[in-house]
Amino acid sequence: MAKTSTDKCSFCGRSRNEVELLISGISGHICEECAERAHDMSKEIISSSKNQSFKLEAKDLPKPKEIKTFLDQYVIGQEEAKKFLSVSVYNHYKRLMQTKKDDEVEIEKSNIIMVGATGTGKTLLAKTIAKKLKVPFTIVDATVLTEAGYVGEDIESLLTRLLQVADYDVAAAEKGIVFIDEIDKIARKGDNPSITRDVSGEGVQQGLLKLLEGSVVNVPPQGGRKHPEQKMIAVNTQHILFICGGAFDGIEKKIAARLNTQVVGFGASKQNTRIDRENLLQYIAPQDLKAFGMIPEIIGRLPVLTYLEALDRKALRAILTEPKNSIIKQYLKLFEMDGVTLSFDTDVFEYIVDKAIEFKLGARGLRSIAETIMMDVMYETPSKQKKNIRIDLKYAQSKIETANQTRLKVQ
Ligand code: ADP
Repeated sequence: MAKTSTDKCSFCGRSRNEVELLISGISGHICEECAERAHDMSKEIISSSKNQSFKLEAKDLPKPKEIKTFLDQYVIGQEEAKKFLSVSVYNHYKRLMQTKKDDEVEIEKSNIIMVGATGTGKTLLAKTIAKKLKVPFTIVDATVLTEAGYVGEDIESLLTRLLQVADYDVAAAEKGIVFIDEIDKIARKGDNPSITRDVSGEGVQQGLLKLLEGSVVNVPPQGGRKHPEQKMIAVNTQHILFICGGAFDGIEKKIAARLNTQVVGFGASKQNTRIDRENLLQYIAPQDLKAFGMIPEIIGRLPVLTYLEALDRKALRAILTEPKNSIIKQYLKLFEMDGVTLSFDTDVFEYIVDKAIEFKLGARGLRSIAETIMMDVMYETPSKQKKNIRIDLKYAQSKIETANQTRLKVQ
């Protein structure tokens, strides 16, 4: 638009010589004051709509059974962990909705710890539950943490991601859920912590304790230590729910040792017959975590202790095809998007499971094996006219046999 002295702000009507700045658009103008006001208004509207997405209302409160049913669609087995998680998350919601004046019974938070071998679904459970929630949720890794002053991340940086997920809405972040993965990696190593300075063990646990207990911590909004100039944001962790997960490799030995000493005592013979030695994790108790190297204070702050079962053949077979977004369903979808109908002979599924077991890859291996089988056909099909593709056992075997087996195994 050409500038003329008769131009007026399309919002307040003032002319060019009455204002300091008049910005011209395609068919109108805006003065600097109206632009500023519009900016403020849009900021306000956007931030209130952001808060809206984290707003909790009693009617939206999913019941534990509903949460569990939702988890069932994505996660195979792990009944106890699902139940424990569902109840804890439900209670977390209720605690958030409790207003001070309600009564004197203040519901305390019940942070959760899940113990189970890698690839049994701990992260999957946490991620799936996040889909159902209306609170900010994030997954962080305990392995990057070190005590303040050492190379690595400060403990407070655990909350950076939560703040980012909440779009820096501190009030929303303060009601969020943090999944801390690989919590076992900060266990105290060795029985005597005083011999050497334990950089990644007890000191980190002490730091973490502060967060779990509930305190006001200063969080670096950009995370890490790369931005020393950043202004810290104070976050109160009192209402943040922490879900911890870890493989605790070798904890079965501690459980067995405890059970053995127990069975020596009173009532021994009765208990002995009931112990399922193949699946000792189901007997996990807080003292086993202590024997593994977690400090008692941390264990005390993680009152809900649950476990994940090892995945057997049947579970692996189910994981391949049953979850709502199972690996196989994902391939069918990918091909469908190219207008191609993909099908598998069922013995291919058995074969994938066999290989995952043979290579000791667990559930994670299912995908890498399936990818190896599917790579060539995914490469070639989009450039072909074929509308139907069937994967049979012979084809699957030929792909795995010609693949670099070392690559498949080491993952
Ligand atoms: P963890 O956190 O216990 O090491 P993950 O949750 O990351 O294991 O699992 C790795 C992958 O294996 C998941 O993304 C999922 O595809 C599959 N998986 C593992 N356990 C299950 C399960 N119980 N049900 C469905 N899929 C599973």
